[in-house]
Amino acid sequence: MATANTPAFNKVLYAPLAEIDPEVQNIIDKETWRQFSGLELIASENLTSRAAIEANGSILTNKYSEGLPGARYYGGNEWIDELEVLCRKRALQAFNLDPAKWGVNVQPYSGSTANFAALTAMIQPQDRIMGLGLPDGGHLTHGYYTAKKKMTASSIYFQSFPYGIDPTTHLIDYEGLAKQAKIFKPRLIICGASAYPRDWDYGNLKATAEREGAFLMADIAHTSGLIAAQELNNPFEYCDVVTTTTHKTLRGPRAGLIFFRKDGDKYADLEKRVNEAVFPACQGGPHNNTIAAVATALLQVAQPEFKQYAKQVIANARALGETLVSHGYKLQTGGTDNHLLLWDLRPLGLTGSKVEKVCDLLGITINKNAVSGDASAQTPGGIRLGTSALTSRNMTEGDVRQVGEFLHRAVQLSLVLQKEAGTKLLKDFVRVATTDSGKEGFTQVKALHKDVVAFARQFPLPGADVSTLKRPAGIEEEF
Ligand SMILES: *Cc1c(COP(=O)(O)O)cnc(C)c1O
Repeated sequence: MATANTPAFNKVLYAPLAEIDPEVQNIIDKETWRQFSGLELIASENLTSRAAIEANGSILTNKYSEGLPGARYYGGNEWIDELEVLCRKRALQAFNLDPAKWGVNVQPYSGSTANFAALTAMIQPQDRIMGLGLPDGGHLTHGYYTAKKKMTASSIYFQSFPYGIDPTTHLIDYEGLAKQAKIFKPRLIICGASAYPRDWDYGNLKATAEREGAFLMADIAHTSGLIAAQELNNPFEYCDVVTTTTHKTLRGPRAGLIFFRKDGDKYADLEKRVNEAVFPACQGGPHNNTIAAVATALLQVAQPEFKQYAKQVIANARALGETLVSHGYKLQTGGTDNHLLLWDLRPLGLTGSKVEKVCDLLGITINKNAVSGDASAQTPGGIRLGTSALTSRNMTEGDVRQVGEFLHRAVQLSLVLQKEAGTKLLKDFVRVATTDSGKEGFTQVKALHKDVVAFARQFPLPGADVSTLKRPAGIEEEF
């Protein structure tokens, strides 16, 4: 609280956000309302806990702590040291790791920076790396480049070469990867994906990596929560380094982690190299508020209830997949082992962009995604769906089947809109969906949006008290 002696220039420090900055508060309110009123199916998203949000919004943001616990460049870090040590301990516990064999750096700001720091630690500039190609479900930071451009630091500062999925089974082509690796001789093989609905054979990859003298790194950004819950294969058995984000299935704040092996000659200085790659090579001061939120998320991950959450996420993804298949739709690989589905829309004559657009108008958030055999990277033929966030809103199989019915209606509606548009252009499609009142498509958009909102608002939203939530200024809706 400001006191009588608080000078005018400091009064601002004590005022609540809503009072001092109603404009930003209103934006937060509108976003809260959107999250409450819609269905979040973006596979990389989740809903973090109230506790993580509290920690993330804490006074820890004030502190500089470059360096590591016990070896900082600034004073005043006794509690920050305690926090970082606790966070590391919980990270190892969450993944059932033996502290004699594994260490972890909890400072990365995000998954992308964790990955670049991991590459910096393990290999030299311009060394060769292999990662799953982006169109096959890989991530930008695994060496992505196009014919015209090196797209990310992972292809600018390293020589990269993608491996892919088998064109018929749509599973990782382990044999093809082994053959390519024999010729390309990577120093590092990266596994892990952003859009792959099946599990990984880490043992197979380890054999290839050993044969070629390469490091093996798993980036488990998407599936780390499911791996921690032991619902998927365990990459720690085979990999030298494991990176992850903390905000996807792990359900924490936005950040990254790097796990590294410590046992054996091969790893003699890996710990030091990882720590120095994070700071000072790639980052500055750690975000201690975020590390506190990561620590609290990891405490949750280690509880038996989290295993139930992970099981439910997978059961929900399967139920959603079954609903779509029962309507005759095509899923890449036919289903899922994890939290996500890839829906191939090409048999319907629709693009991912159009369905993404329609879903946005309906309050269903999804993203367009490449599917195997896409002619053009610019017009992906599918969408990606994930169940992590819906499961965090208490949804179980029956609810998710209802969501599947909404998606069925959304796709059928897209066909109506495409016909009414008269062309295949996205802009004509959007025009009829949003302005052609009186037409069938427009009417159906309104009706389905209303149904989606009514359904979504039955479920609570972590981090918000929905019983007192009111429609904020700036949001127009008829229902
Ligand atoms: C999301 C993701 C990342 C990047 O995480 P950011 O926190 O967005 O930087 C890295 N790797 C994979 C496989 C991902 O899915």
